[in-house]
Amino acid sequence: MSGEELQLVKEAFDSNYIAPVGPMIDSFEREFSEYTKIPHCLCLSSGTAAMHLALLGVGVGAGDLVLASTLTFIGSVSPATFLGAELVFIDSDEDSWNMSPSLLAEEIKRCVDSGRIPKAVVPTDLYGQCADLEQILAVCEPYGIPVISDAAEAVGATYKGQSAGYHARAAVFSFNGNKIITSSGGGILASHDKEFIDRARYLSTQARDPVIHFEHQEIGFNYRMSNVVAAIGLGQLRALDTRVEQTRAVFKRYEESLSGLPGLTMMSEMETGKCNRWLTVILVDEAQFGASPEAIRLALDAENIEARPVWKPMHMQPVFKGTRCVGGEVSERYFSTGLCLPSGSEMTGSDLDRVCSMIKACRKPA
Ligand SMILES: *Cc1c(COP(=O)(O)O)cnc(C)c1O
Repeated sequence: MSGEELQLVKEAFDSNYIAPVGPMIDSFEREFSEYTKIPHCLCLSSGTAAMHLALLGVGVGAGDLVLASTLTFIGSVSPATFLGAELVFIDSDEDSWNMSPSLLAEEIKRCVDSGRIPKAVVPTDLYGQCADLEQILAVCEPYGIPVISDAAEAVGATYKGQSAGYHARAAVFSFNGNKIITSSGGGILASHDKEFIDRARYLSTQARDPVIHFEHQEIGFNYRMSNVVAAIGLGQLRALDTRVEQTRAVFKRYEESLSGLPGLTMMSEMETGKCNRWLTVILVDEAQFGASPEAIRLALDAENIEARPVWKPMHMQPVFKGTRCVGGEVSERYFSTGLCLPSGSEMTGSDLDRVCSMIKACRKPA
């Protein structure tokens, strides 16, 4: 927390607007919109809820095809299953770690040839690096396939001079507790299309007709963010640029200390944008480095320092057994050789040096 959040929460209490509506929600939506330059924003209870409403908004329903990144977090793809859609996973590019536009193009061609046009494409901006949306859009536009950007991890990141998610039909952001900024839990759905967001707003509040008695023609959801949570999010948003600079400095310090070691590489920043470096991730070649990522993880864990593997690709998840994946080798390799290092914006130089020296101490001479 930056300090401003508590003041804003107090303002929320003083106004006695707790939920479901209130001035903090309005301010958070307005300031997030100003920050991202995406004109219409909707505060929701989670990024997962935002993805659910985004897919509904582009008309995804039972039996429809949704193409999504395999190297991602479950919240990116579970909403497609809520709607009874059929998922196909797309592997990552080696350089960006994000959805490969060429594999996507292959799969879309295959789908179109078999007479089935995918209903949506959902690329994730992994660990705060934006997917190559321009290329992804170029592949999707000839068939009118909407692209929904999963920018849950990329709040504060940019692509071609604009916010993460800016170029997509709709973008999903998360303020879950582990993200670069947090409202304690929550998400935003953003779009250039006012009607799209108005419809999502209506569905997020139980699809209530605008009459004084409670009347419904459709089934909706209870997905709105509370005014108190929005107060926290607003305070966090005002500290976002500082957070991004901090997590980028964390990455830089790791890079300076570790990147020269044999067998150890890091995610490089694409020329197309600026990563928020939500997490610093290393890839460890066990033979060259002299220790496996798991050995490093255990050594850190023994000192009460948490590190974690890279997301387990969706096509390797038991729950998606049998689901088609285009490619898969890149994300499998990133999963088996990757390690997410402690990356909190509050980490000091000496904290970071301590982690680095422990990683170096894991090396066994060949
Ligand atoms: C966190 C996350 C989500 C889900 O956001 P929640 O707010 O936790 O529901 C979706 N996609 C990705 C890539 C995420 O990291």
